[in-house]
Amino acid sequence: MKIAIYPGSFDPITNGHLDVLERALKIFDKIIVAVGEQKGKNYMFNTDERVNLIKESTKHLEVEVKSFKGTLVNFAEQEQATAIVRGLRAVSDFDHEFQLALMNRKLNKEIETVFIMTRGMYSYLSSSIVKEAAQLKAKLVGMVPTNVEDALKEKC
Ligand code: ADP
Repeated sequence: MKIAIYPGSFDPITNGHLDVLERALKIFDKIIVAVGEQKGKNYMFNTDERVNLIKESTKHLEVEVKSFKGTLVNFAEQEQATAIVRGLRAVSDFDHEFQLALMNRKLNKEIETVFIMTRGMYSYLSSSIVKEAAQLKAKLVGMVPTNVEDALKEKC
């Protein structure tokens, strides 16, 4: 059984995240979406809200959604995962992702980071831009699942 972790802030989950998840499910038997809690980071949605938004929008998929504290590698070991899935949009993602992947390999060389390239139509999409657009009352059609659109309307 090939288990992978798909970690992130998911503040909130977007259609870009979902697309990566759906494609990663073709490679792995089980994916655990891991919602991170970084100290000092200012989230719009708290951890439970982010977990619940993901659970609601992935009902059609065979995934588990959990939050984690501490290092990703520790969490992956605990879940018996052998891979970490990350998405790549543009060159600007690369530096940070490269550093993260090498750090995680240093911590546990058995856990492989696998990158899934964004679909062109989602290459502009990030949680931050969606939050900005929501604050400006823009329509979010095609950017986020409907439950997330509703949650953003309530917050903004
Ligand atoms: P983090 O704070 O860990 O970067 P995010 O929730 O922003 O968390 O992103 C989680 C992962 O999903 C990252 O690997 C990010 O590059 C990827 N990702 C985010 N948006 C997209 C998108 N539109 N297309 C492909 N990958 C994406």
